Amino acid sequence: MSKQVKVDGVPCCSFCNSISMTKVMDFGEVALAGGFLRSDQFTEELYYPLRLFFCRDCYAAQVIDKVSTQVLFKDYFYFSSSIQTLREHFVNYAREVTARFLTPESSTVLEFGCNDGVLLRPLADQNIKTVIGVDPATNVVSTINDPRIKIINDFFSENIAQEVVAKYGHVDLVVANNVYAHIPDIQGVTRAVHEVLSDDGVFIFEVHYLGNVINQLQYDMIYHEHLYYYSLLSAIEHFERYEMVIFDVKSVPIHAGSMRFYVCKKGSKHSHFISSEVTKLKNDELSMGFNLPETFEHFAAEVDSRKRQLMDLLGSLKKEGHSIAGYGASGRANTMIQYCKIDHGHLDYIIDDAPAKIGFYTPGSHFRIFSRSILEEPNPPDYLLIFAWSFLEEITKRSKKYLECGGAFIIPLPEVKVLSKLK
Ligand SMILES: [Zn+2]
Repeated sequence: MSKQVKVDGVPCCSFCNSISMTKVMDFGEVALAGGFLRSDQFTEELYYPLRLFFCRDCYAAQVIDKVSTQVLFKDYFYFSSSIQTLREHFVNYAREVTARFLTPESSTVLEFGCNDGVLLRPLADQNIKTVIGVDPATNVVSTINDPRIKIINDFFSENIAQEVVAKYGHVDLVVANNVYAHIPDIQGVTRAVHEVLSDDGVFIFEVHYLGNVINQLQYDMIYHEHLYYYSLLSAIEHFERYEMVIFDVKSVPIHAGSMRFYVCKKGSKHSHFISSEVTKLKNDELSMGFNLPETFEHFAAEVDSRKRQLMDLLGSLKKEGHSIAGYGASGRANTMIQYCKIDHGHLDYIIDDAPAKIGFYTPGSHFRIFSRSILEEPNPPDYLLIFAWSFLEEITKRSKKYLECGGAFIIPLPEVKVLSKLK
């Protein structure tokens, strides 16, 4: 029997401590979306509640069921530098922030959640005087091995901020990429950012943007690793409590829609120039109702209708005797599978392009993961359910032959539909 872990507590906002919280989605008890496993580990698998709430006081959308970061990130097998588009993204990023905010020969930069140095290396290439990386994943930071980069193998915290200030002085630029949404103690880490930053220093963080979640019904982005879904409105409220302001924003087309936020201390030289992008996005978000619980209730209702459409489609195709495989064994797939309750009556197995996942099973649902070479073998599946639907164009190109031979795609979001060359 699988063990169940209850995470107790009255819903309370992680950002402002308010209890004016509206429940948006309840996934029930689910396995961790990143917990791919072997068949001999099924009996040991743990299940956790997963609920998304909206704070009516500060507009923050958040998962309130927090799983220990030691459990989530102790064996982290995500190496950013292995992805070509990410490498290019961060080379451009390093050039841009250096030109805009830094005097390389005298500047200090700190990145927390620095992963394998995918941004720190190009920053060091810009001849920044002091480059510091903070990350708890020993197996990942140990690959950096670059004398220009000082590594602190730990979670970023107020203690680490004090150590950095004592050793290197205050920092001119703090960066956090795809990590500011993953921090259980967001208040402590934000205090640490404030502490470590110089008076005119800049804090830049990149996160998946709430607007994409709401407008494209990306509910499959919701899992325990992703605790927060930032809107500009919620981020403004958050930083206001630390005497900080957002002076610029930039939409970034990676990870299915990210947003880069530029933050400084009140009274700093940057705080006098709030970009027109900030004003525009703020107005857009107000017109889309990102400050209203009804918007999130509507989102949940739309998500539920896609779930019912998808399950009806899978059910009827299976009744007609078709074979169906999933495409893309990601955390997002696992969220969708567990939310929709897709089981072995709906889907036969899952295909993934990453060799490291082949032979493993999906968490909770225990679908076996096969290499995409299975599509070349006799009797490929009649339908592929595209869990990686954000990469549809790329997958369509790569699967030209499969589609030409009569295969078809099931697209689960933002609209449920079937794509085939024959129709
Ligand atoms: Zn709040």
